[in-house]
Amino acid sequence: MDPGDVVERFREYLRDHNLPVTHQRVDIARVLLQSDRHLSVEDVTRELRRSGHRAGLATVYRTIELLVKCGLVVERDFGEGFKRFEPARDIPQHEHLLCTTCGRVTEFRDERLERITTLVAETHGYLRQRHRLVIHGVCAACRSGAPPS
Ligand SMILES: [Zn+2]
Ligand SMILES: [Zn+2]
Repeated sequence: MDPGDVVERFREYLRDHNLPVTHQRVDIARVLLQSDRHLSVEDVTRELRRSGHRAGLATVYRTIELLVKCGLVVERDFGEGFKRFEPARDIPQHEHLLCTTCGRVTEFRDERLERITTLVAETHGYLRQRHRLVIHGVCAACRSGAPPS
């Protein structure tokens, strides 16, 4: 989906819920929805500042909460002590690799995981619904000593 359309969907959501469509909210939504990364609240605030926008931390938090609530953004907890957020694209299921040195997040899909987790669930008498996996490690760039991009 076009990122612009998604921002428009957020505007609609705000209007439908009688919430003011402020510039700040739209700016925050744009940063998150147009990103292909997994941003923390701090990252979002930094991105906003870089593009010349300003929003208080409380507004950033509140807006992200709304974006998650309306289903446009997905919350991720990689056990780092803070949450990350990514646009809810049309990808049904993907997993993450997290670099413990530079914090880079890489996505991957592997259907073998679907099969093995189904098997594990069945072994324990479960009907598998979903799973979550984060692989912690050191990315190729960090291992080769190159600065993170
Ligand atoms: Zn790295
Ligand atoms: Zn992801």
